[in-house]
Amino acid sequence: MLRLLRTSIVYRSAFIVLGIALLVGSFFALFSYQFSAQSEQEQANQRMHASLSTVESTASIACFLLDQNLASELARGLLKNGDISRVLIFSGDKILAEASKQLVQNQATPVVTMQPEAKAPGQLEQEIFSPFNAKEKVCNIRLDPNMEFIREQSASKARFIVYLLLMQALVMASAVVYVVLTMITRPIKNISDRLHTLSPEAGDKLGLPDGNEKDEIGQLVRDVNTLVANLLTTLDEERSLRIRHAIGEKKFQTIFENAETGIFQLNFSAELLSYNPAFLRMFNLTDAHQRGNISNVLTLMLEGQELRLHLMIDAAINESKVMSDDFYIQVGGSSQKKWINLVISPAEDGVLQGLANDITERKLKEENANQLAVTDHLTGLNNRLGFEKEIARLSNEHENGYAQGFFLLMIDLDKFKQVNDTYGHTIGDQVLCHFAHIATSTVRKSDFIARLGGDEFVILLQNLTHQSKAEEIAKKIISQASQDIVITDGVSVKIGASIGISYTDPQAFDPNELLRRADTAMYDVKRSGRNAYRVVNLEGVDTTQLS
Ligand code: GH3
Ligand code: MG
Repeated sequence: MLRLLRTSIVYRSAFIVLGIALLVGSFFALFSYQFSAQSEQEQANQRMHASLSTVESTASIACFLLDQNLASELARGLLKNGDISRVLIFSGDKILAEASKQLVQNQATPVVTMQPEAKAPGQLEQEIFSPFNAKEKVCNIRLDPNMEFIREQSASKARFIVYLLLMQALVMASAVVYVVLTMITRPIKNISDRLHTLSPEAGDKLGLPDGNEKDEIGQLVRDVNTLVANLLTTLDEERSLRIRHAIGEKKFQTIFENAETGIFQLNFSAELLSYNPAFLRMFNLTDAHQRGNISNVLTLMLEGQELRLHLMIDAAINESKVMSDDFYIQVGGSSQKKWINLVISPAEDGVLQGLANDITERKLKEENANQLAVTDHLTGLNNRLGFEKEIARLSNEHENGYAQGFFLLMIDLDKFKQVNDTYGHTIGDQVLCHFAHIATSTVRKSDFIARLGGDEFVILLQNLTHQSKAEEIAKKIISQASQDIVITDGVSVKIGASIGISYTDPQAFDPNELLRRADTAMYDVKRSGRNAYRVVNLEGVDTTQLS
C-alpha cells in the first residue's frame, strides 16, 4: 500500500482526496448531528404545542367538569404523539389524569394528590382556562418529551447526512482518480515509455500527446525535446573537441619527439624535470648520462655562467616574462664548444618551460660578418670602421678607469700615386699589402693597425709610455718602407712613409685631439720633404725627428 502511494500519482491523489473528504465529512457529520438533534428537539416541541392546542378546548371542558374519564381519554390521545412520553393533567395539586408510554391508563384513576417532581428537560406545560370564563384557570396539562424517540429521529437524520457525505467523498475520489489517470498519469506514462525507447542520435523526438498540445504536458514535451537537442549538440561539440584535443596532443607529442629544438622543463632551482631527444643530442648527453642523474646537467654545463641562468629564471618567475640569452658552453664532456640560446618562460606552478637552440653556426656567421665589416679586404688589416670601433672601445675603457697611455702613428705613403700611375692599380695594391706586412711585422701582436683608406694607415701602440720606443718603431717602418720593393723580375718600385705621432696619457684621453695632432704632424712631415716622422706630445711640443 505504502509502495503504491509512493509510486502512483493516481493512488496518492485518490488517497489524499478521500482523506480530506472523510475529514471534512466527519466534521460536517458531527456538526449536522448536533444541529439536527437541536432542530429535532425544537420540531418535537412545536409538534407537542400543536397537539396541545388541538386538545385545548376538550381539556377545558374535562377540567371544568372535573371529568376524569374524559381527561384520561384526552391524555391517552395525546400520548399517541410519538414525541410525548407522559401526559399529566392536574388542577392545583390534584391529578385528573396521567398517561405515559410505560404506563397506559385505561380507566379513570381516582383523583390523587400530586407529588412534587423535578422538571424534565423539554417539558411543556400549559394552563387550561374555563370554557365560560377565559380568565378562570381550571387545570394544567404537562407534557414530557419522549427524548429517546427524538434522539432516535435526529440520529437517523445525521446518519443519512453522513452517508450522503461519504457517497460524495467516494464519487469525488473516483472523479479525481479518473481525471488524474486520464489527464496526467497516462500522458506522462506514455511520455516516459517513449523516452525509454527514444534514440535522440537517430533524430527521434517525443511526439506531442493528442489534446495536450497547448497545456503543461505539451510544454513539458517541447522542453524535453529542446533539452535533448541541446544535450546532443553539447555532446557532439564535446566529442569533436575531445578528438581535436587527442589529435593536438598526438601532434604535440610528435613535435616534442621530433623537434630539432631542445624542449625541457625546469624547476625554480634550475633542475631538469623533463626533456626531449633533441635536448639530449644538443648537449651530447648519452644513454649513460641519462641513466645517471642529469637533473643538474644545465648548471654543470653552464659552469661560470650559472648566475645568468638563475637571473633568467628569477625574471621569468617574478615578471612572468619570456627570457632569452645566449651561452657559450662546453657540451657533454667533449672539448667541443657550442653557442646555445636558452629561452625560459613560466609554465605552471613551480615549473618553467624552456627551449634550447644550437646557434653556433649563426654566431660564427655573425662573428664573421662583424669581422668582415671591420676588415680591409685588400690588406686584411682593420678598416676605418674597425679603427673607430677600437677608439670607442678604448674610450669605454677610459670611462671605466682601465685605459692606459698609448701612441698613435698616422702614416701616409709617399709618392704612392706614381706607383699606380706607372704600374697600375694591381701593382699599387701589392705595394699596399707589402706595406701592411711591414707594419704588422714591426709592431707587437697586441698593437692595433688599420688602413683608413687609400695609402693612409694608423697604428695604436698600446701600453707604451716611452716615446723613444714609439720613435724606434716609426724609424723601422720608414726604413723598411723606403727599401726597393721588387714586384716582378726586373721591376721594383720605391715608396716612402711619412708618419705623424701623437701621445695620450690615461688622464687626458681625447681621441679626436689625438687624431688631429697626429694628422697635422704627418702633413707637416709631408710638407718638410716626406719619408720622416714627427712627434707631437701632449703639451703640443713638436719633437720633430727626421729619419
Ligand atoms: P703623397 O706623397 O703626397 O702622399 O702623394 P701620393 O702620391 O701618395 O698621393 P696621395 O697620398 O694623395 O694619394 C693616394 C692615392 O692612392 C690616391 C689613390 O688613387 C690611390 N689609392 C687609393 N686607394 C687605393 C687602392 O685601394 N689601391 C690602389 N692601388 N690605389 C689606391
Ligand atoms: Mg700618399
